[in-house]
Amino acid sequence: MLTTHSPASPREAGTAGKPAGPATRRSNASTETSFDPTTWARILQNVRLNHPSLNRVWFDQMSPRQLTNGVIQVTVATPAQLNFCQSQCQQPFTAAAQTVTGRLVAVSFHCDNLPRSGGVFNEGDQPLPLNPDYTFENFVTGPCNRLPHAAAVAVAEQPGKAYNPLFIHGGVGLGKTHLLQAVSQKVLERQASLRILYLSCDAFINQFINAVETGEMNTFRHRYRDVDLLIIDDIHFLSGRDRTQEEFFHTFNTLYQGHKQIILSADCPPSEIPELEERLVSRVNWGLVARIDKPCYETRVAILQKKAKVRGLTLPDDVICYVAAKVANNTRELEGAVTKIQGMAMLQNGTIDLDLAKAALGDTATPEQRRITIQNILDVVTKYYNV
Ligand code: ADP
Ligand code: MG
Repeated sequence: MLTTHSPASPREAGTAGKPAGPATRRSNASTETSFDPTTWARILQNVRLNHPSLNRVWFDQMSPRQLTNGVIQVTVATPAQLNFCQSQCQQPFTAAAQTVTGRLVAVSFHCDNLPRSGGVFNEGDQPLPLNPDYTFENFVTGPCNRLPHAAAVAVAEQPGKAYNPLFIHGGVGLGKTHLLQAVSQKVLERQASLRILYLSCDAFINQFINAVETGEMNTFRHRYRDVDLLIIDDIHFLSGRDRTQEEFFHTFNTLYQGHKQIILSADCPPSEIPELEERLVSRVNWGLVARIDKPCYETRVAILQKKAKVRGLTLPDDVICYVAAKVANNTRELEGAVTKIQGMAMLQNGTIDLDLAKAALGDTATPEQRRITIQNILDVVTKYYNV
């Protein structure tokens, strides 16, 4: 079991045998106390109130198991949720627990379902933190991304067999990383023993340079060629890196021949990555190259609804339509808009309406200021066509 380390000083430990608040029951002679659901509900409520953007609906499924030595041990369902909790929830939950119980307790998160032999690793062989929000369930499909999504699902179901390699490309913030992580999470859910190496292209390059400098090429090769799935995000950074490309070419061949799955993402199609060796371009084209486009209005609406749902947030329809119309460029900005609105609502009385959304997104222009003039049109058209 992987646990986080929470402060449990002797002073705290001294308080641990005592009930942490009126609702907590004391166990016999030990310092273990099974945790009271009502107190937990109040802790959750406190976190949700003070950190609205942190909230996820799956918080309701967390199970606080016991209070031991001043630490409330909480079990979460998946390794990705554990990563999220360990990296973002430790302090807010501990503060909430202290407020609610009035004692110096801490919260620590655990997961019983950590993969034993397999898992997702980064270049340093450390378990890679995955984002629990980046799942297929949370990915909205539309005309802009149907093909990459379907291909990613197929690959997750049959790694090494469906499309190999899978190459997903598209502009910034359009969901490439989300899909790569969704594949990783789905694969592990189905076959926990598989080993997935997931890294950024930068990390691959740095590892290669390191291995050359320290003369540890064998270890390097072994690390990259002995996996079931190799996922490299933002592969366009290989541009102009001749020696790394050469090494990647051999890694690619070994994995491909062993029917191991390779998934790559980039900001443009393989043939448009500047200074990428022709033989690599042609290898990548053996598989499936799928493009993600900007989401259309309807998809943006559905994404906003999904983002709100994941956070347990209710957004009125007119707010959703307003944000979907205003934020048209990339999906990451849609999520940013939800966070801003949520933050602004927290400062006010919690109600979200159109005026609040407009203020949150800085849309304070009067109708007069917003009126489009002939000059505006001329400016935009001449700039677009560069005339
Ligand atoms: P990229 O890697 O292409 O730059 P990301 O995968 O980091 O983009 O996506 C940016 C944000 O947009 C993430 O929060 C992601 O969850 C969200 N996102 C992108 N596309 C979708 C989608 N189709 N459905 C739901 N969320 C999406
Ligand atoms: Mg990305």
